[in-house]
Amino acid sequence: MDFSYMLSTINPVTGFLLALTFFLIWRNHPERKYILNWSLGFAAGSIGYAFEFFHFFIANFRFANGVNIFLPVSMLFTARGLCLRYTGRAPDRALLLAITFCGMVACWMSFGDHNALIRGFVVSGGVAVVVVTAMTAILRATQRDRIDLSILMVLLLLTILLPVRPIVSFLIEGAPHIDAIEVTSFWAVSLKVGGLFVWIAFALLFLLRIASDLLSELNAQSVTDSLSGILNRRGFFDTAGSLVRDATPGLPVSVFLIDIDHFKKVNDTYGHQVGDQVIRNVAKALHANAPEAAVIGRLGGEEFAIALPNTDRGAAMAFAEALRMNLEHQGHAGVATDHPVTVSIGLAQGTGHTLDELLYDADMALYKAKSGGRNMIAANGGEAFRNQSTRLPGRLVRALP
Ligand code: GH3
Ligand code: MG
Ligand code: MG
Repeated sequence: MDFSYMLSTINPVTGFLLALTFFLIWRNHPERKYILNWSLGFAAGSIGYAFEFFHFFIANFRFANGVNIFLPVSMLFTARGLCLRYTGRAPDRALLLAITFCGMVACWMSFGDHNALIRGFVVSGGVAVVVVTAMTAILRATQRDRIDLSILMVLLLLTILLPVRPIVSFLIEGAPHIDAIEVTSFWAVSLKVGGLFVWIAFALLFLLRIASDLLSELNAQSVTDSLSGILNRRGFFDTAGSLVRDATPGLPVSVFLIDIDHFKKVNDTYGHQVGDQVIRNVAKALHANAPEAAVIGRLGGEEFAIALPNTDRGAAMAFAEALRMNLEHQGHAGVATDHPVTVSIGLAQGTGHTLDELLYDADMALYKAKSGGRNMIAANGGEAFRNQSTRLPGRLVRALP
């Protein structure tokens, strides 16, 4: 039995199975279009290799054009997926132009010149342009890990192999005649074996990339409050905990506990949905008013917390006061205009404290602000107060350098 023909069935079948695998993964994550492109890449490759397989039985040179078209299209979709994954968009025009030009030239040549060598170079050239485009996308990405670097290495290897294969083939067997390519020739075997190795490397690395992406998404979700989009309790404790631990020795850290006043009444009067919107608005206001270095979280219900590094007492108080006043004057859809939604703020500040200690002190201060009449600020060791100034300061915070 001649196993050479059986070897020719490995690529179409492998390509089909990989296309199916990536398609099923994409079905569960339809927003990740790059997975669909990788699936289409394997599918087109599978069709290309199927043409190659049948070419040996139907000895018609035109059949080989299926390989010339579908293998480059396979790389086109693979590169498109990589561009989408790493830059969020794909340079479709450039990719299509490279593939179409080379494909058309190769097909046109097949009618006149049955020497496969030059055609091999033309098709490889188009594919190389596409591979280099994908490499550029990875190099332009803002973040790269080892998986990305490994994908880059495989692409680099592919760019080298593309021109090397026809050259080696020419040196071993001379110029291949398209109607007389033996199934056991270096030309035919290297196309299959090379393609198979590249596919296995791509498939493993792409699966790793997807798994890592999904894991990161899951991690982000586990620390994000789904209602307001800011950090949830766990996220706040993780991030603010690091902030307090890594604080510059001698420079104070401020922790604010912010609780909406009489929120139960907002829910009771206007409904739970309006209450939810108020929570979102307050979270947005905290985000808009706090400096970039601040860690902001929703600890639960209508209670928020902010940790601010390197802030002196004056700046922290000014920030809290600006926040209190901005919120007092902020309107909320569905809430009567003569019903200000206010907050009480407890502030704890110090050097060399743990986050738990600061939060405990801030909670004590918050209690003071609530019992002092609400819509007030209280700092640890101080009395509750409210600046009666009607002037509305904007972003008042000045974090120390
Ligand atoms: P205080 O001024 O003392 O803070 O009074 P309060 O009414 O704000 O405090 P209380 O703890 O009595 O009520 C908090 C309310 O917040 C009770 C609860 O129904 C409501 N709440 C908690 N989580 C949510 C939420 O996710 N959405 C909405 N709409 N309401 C929530
Ligand atoms: Mg409250
Ligand atoms: Mg509360």
